[in-house]
Amino acid sequence: MSNVVAIVGRPNVGKSTLFNRLIGQRKAIVDDVSGVTRDRHYGKAEWLDKEFTVIDTGGYVPDSSDLFEKEIANQVKIAMDEADALIFVLDVTTDITALDEEFASILRKSKKPILLAINKVDSPQRYDEMYSFYSLGFEKLFPISSITGSGTGELLDELIEHLDFTETEEEENSLPKIAIIGRPNVGKSSFINALLNKDRNIVTDIAGTTRDTIHTLYNAYGKELLLVDTAGIRKKAKVHEDIEFYSVMRSIKAIESADVCVLMLDATMGIHSQDLSLFGLAKKNNKGIVILVNKWDLIEEKDNQTYKKATEVILEAIQPFNDVHVEFISALTKQRINKALDIALEVYENKQRRISTSQLNDFILPIIQNNPPPATKGKYIKIKYAAQLPSKSVAFAFFCNLPQYIPESYTRFIENRIREQFNFTGVPINIYYRRK
Ligand code: GDP
Ligand code: GDP
Repeated sequence: MSNVVAIVGRPNVGKSTLFNRLIGQRKAIVDDVSGVTRDRHYGKAEWLDKEFTVIDTGGYVPDSSDLFEKEIANQVKIAMDEADALIFVLDVTTDITALDEEFASILRKSKKPILLAINKVDSPQRYDEMYSFYSLGFEKLFPISSITGSGTGELLDELIEHLDFTETEEEENSLPKIAIIGRPNVGKSSFINALLNKDRNIVTDIAGTTRDTIHTLYNAYGKELLLVDTAGIRKKAKVHEDIEFYSVMRSIKAIESADVCVLMLDATMGIHSQDLSLFGLAKKNNKGIVILVNKWDLIEEKDNQTYKKATEVILEAIQPFNDVHVEFISALTKQRINKALDIALEVYENKQRRISTSQLNDFILPIIQNNPPPATKGKYIKIKYAAQLPSKSVAFAFFCNLPQYIPESYTRFIENRIREQFNFTGVPINIYYRRK
């Protein structure tokens, strides 16, 4: 079930401040990759052990002022269509503006839950000022202060009431769920069509429980899987196609409902920051990842060094998590598209991999003995044993005396050793330390 919450409202009401608070200590999904700092506009939030994705629409505001109102109205409509709930933010310190009214008039028509957050209520004195916002025609107001955090608990309590955290039958379906993600025009629909046209008879569309997500049962050449297809991919909603915000919304939904995300790149374009955002999003969601470089047919004069060099560039860009398959394909000529599926299924297998505690310890304890974590403040860190956690994603716990002193670099060392020994290619690994 996808649970996406959009924060909407005019500029300066405090959307991004609220966003940062909801994302909390957990880093936003968009990391700094290879020194490129990008704005964080979407991330995972957690309340009472329930996780959902938050998207700050403020990050997608157009620059040009003549486009402003039209684009913003468009954005609210997309958010209303695509999100599962919306937080409409208003500023208690200013009067209701024409733009606030405009937002309200669009949002009032929504069938989705809308929560009105009256922001900047930093002190009890400002309580009284909030009542004027009842004139916007919504039943309930949530006075909050995004800066101090007051009132946000009540807002979140109500918010999660409107989300659905039950596992659906479809999600429990044991078939691998593969999503094809990527920027517009890289060839996602061509790839899916190339796969499906191969053997039309054995294709069934299963209407998804997530609204307008279609899972196509793919069953050919001994492979059985579900292709996660948000309606935007094959049907192509032309109106919204160029709006980055729309494609991000679509991608979030596809990623959330998949086991393995196939990130498609265009061979003629290289790897861009938007590709890296999608990669980061899939990684933060602990999804299996495969990178396909499509339109390989367009690269002329290639020898066996060409793909090696291209692979190096990609692996460099996605650091530090670059134990990932990169394959070069052509959806047009159908070159290696079957291989691409095999790789996606291999990554799915890797994601299911469970290493027994004895197997893990037999392997890792001698390595730790020979390369113990560095002593900090005169204290020696002793790791007693390790175990893979029974979680859906791949995670290991290391039991030790002083978890807080283990440096990040040591975690990376451990992860790399695990990856050398066991096949977790394409799968994010989380390592935790616990006090014994
Ligand atoms: P956005 O444009 O809607 O994303 O708004 P921002 O999050 O950038 O906030 C706009 C301004 O309002 C900034 O100067 C914030 O520091 C301020 N602000 C945001 N939330 C609060 C709040 O709860 N109380 C007060 N006093 N100021 C806030
Ligand atoms: P999407 O927006 O990612 O679904 O991309 P499309 O599948 O619609 O493809 C965008 C354009 O790229 C179309 O004109 C396709 O015909 C073209 N295209 C897709 N795959 C290939 C390929 O492997 N080689 C070449 N030369 N063109 C391709």
